[in-house]
Amino acid sequence: MYSFFESVEKSFDKAAEFTKWDKGLLEQIKACNSVYSMKFPVKMDDGRIEVIEAYRVQHSQHKTPCKGGIRFSKEVNQDEVMALASLMTYKCAIVNVPFGGAKGGIKINPRNHSTYELEKITRRYTAELVKKNFIGPGIDVPAPDYGTGEREMSWIVDTYASLKPGEIDAAGCVTGKPITQGGVYGRKEATGLGVFFGVREVCNNEKAMAKLGLSKGIVGKRVVVQGLGNVGYHCAKFFREHGAIVIAIAEFEGAVYHEAGINEEELFKHRKATGSVKDFANSTYIASSSEALELDCDILIPAALENVIDGNNAPRIKAKIIGEAANGPLTPEADEIFIAKGTLVIPDMYLNAGGVTVSYFEWLKNLSHVRYGRLEKRFTESMNHHILTEIEALTGKQASIKARNLIEHGADEIDLVHSGLEETMISATQEIMDIWQQNPSIPDMRTAAYICAIDKVGISYTELGIFP
Ligand code: NAD
Repeated sequence: MYSFFESVEKSFDKAAEFTKWDKGLLEQIKACNSVYSMKFPVKMDDGRIEVIEAYRVQHSQHKTPCKGGIRFSKEVNQDEVMALASLMTYKCAIVNVPFGGAKGGIKINPRNHSTYELEKITRRYTAELVKKNFIGPGIDVPAPDYGTGEREMSWIVDTYASLKPGEIDAAGCVTGKPITQGGVYGRKEATGLGVFFGVREVCNNEKAMAKLGLSKGIVGKRVVVQGLGNVGYHCAKFFREHGAIVIAIAEFEGAVYHEAGINEEELFKHRKATGSVKDFANSTYIASSSEALELDCDILIPAALENVIDGNNAPRIKAKIIGEAANGPLTPEADEIFIAKGTLVIPDMYLNAGGVTVSYFEWLKNLSHVRYGRLEKRFTESMNHHILTEIEALTGKQASIKARNLIEHGADEIDLVHSGLEETMISATQEIMDIWQQNPSIPDMRTAAYICAIDKVGISYTELGIFP
């Protein structure tokens, strides 16, 4: 049984065999450069002093700053943070986000603490990072992860800015902030939308679809989604809006199925009102949630948690494509079974990179101190208006109101963020598919993704000239 970090190393080694890099350089790419393990005291509401265990791991500085979320969980340990930091390096490399990988963790159960205690823990953790020069817009930029969100990111940026008076780029010390604190529009749906763009691009690959016996394109594909949280909800929404049929959605208390499609928004409202997906109109309820994963479908999107498909249930999975929206939903045993069955697994390492991609856009916004679209929106609208008016005069025909609105519209921040995300996911998918399809001995898309990451990090190290 391998630890999480060891299993990441194993996948790396498997892919490294297909690359040309020197053994020593591969060792450097794999290694975690800096591991900061800390303990600090925090006085709780009842006057007790609790010693908090926390970590920040910077896996790679081949590009700076480093980037990765902060997790609040009782399960946090050094091995897990190291593994997640390494995955961040590879993820960023694949989607051409110019950061090294990092990850942070605080070993607490946030549900066991009051808001005031959480604020004190977060602020003290930030102060510890500042003391050791482990945070900053050009050093290391955290983000939300399990158990953290906009609120914690606000505390971090405020603590950092107050300890670094006059630092003009202080807002870029963390991403996932609320809009009012320098956040960016489009962050919330970023991961789900990125998953959709990635899967759609795979479905547009004629060779891959022919191999699976599926038609090209996303329209009409039957999809099962596990998890109606942030990622699962947005995946289901974008698949449905673009013509796929989400035939089932699974939550932990059960799943609902309807061949003509489930509307995720209505299901979300129903679950909020009743506390369960059960009794959702026009649908069949499946009491054993994991059975939904085994439904006959074209695309399965596990978007809940890790290790949900293992050596036991993998043989019964009928989907031809599995899009890993969650982190680590498949065990290595499941991977081997899918390679043998010919199921196409689109790996988490790049497929759920939408969050970090949009975080990159947020960081750029913070460094430029200007909202996306502010300079050009009105100019574009006025130019488009002139062009359209001229065309109408020359042709003697009038555009419909709908067409006029579409043509004249200048890009808002949300338009630009979505467009940047689409470009990122399409390019990354094409790069990985090219690597995979050009070498028949590469067993799966996960290995191809690792090869893509290793090559990019390898090139960066070489260009840095640190190996004369
Ligand atoms: P979330 O907490 O918003 O949603 C998870 C959902 O899964 C919840 O609704 C939960 O009830 C449901 N769930 C739990 N156990 C289940 C089970 N056994 N069967 C079916 N559903 C179950 O979390 P999220 O942000 O949507 O993240 C989901 C996954 O995606 C995680 O693995 C996370 O690491 C990964 N991820 C998230 C982001 C992001 O931007 N949020 C980015 C990258 C990766």
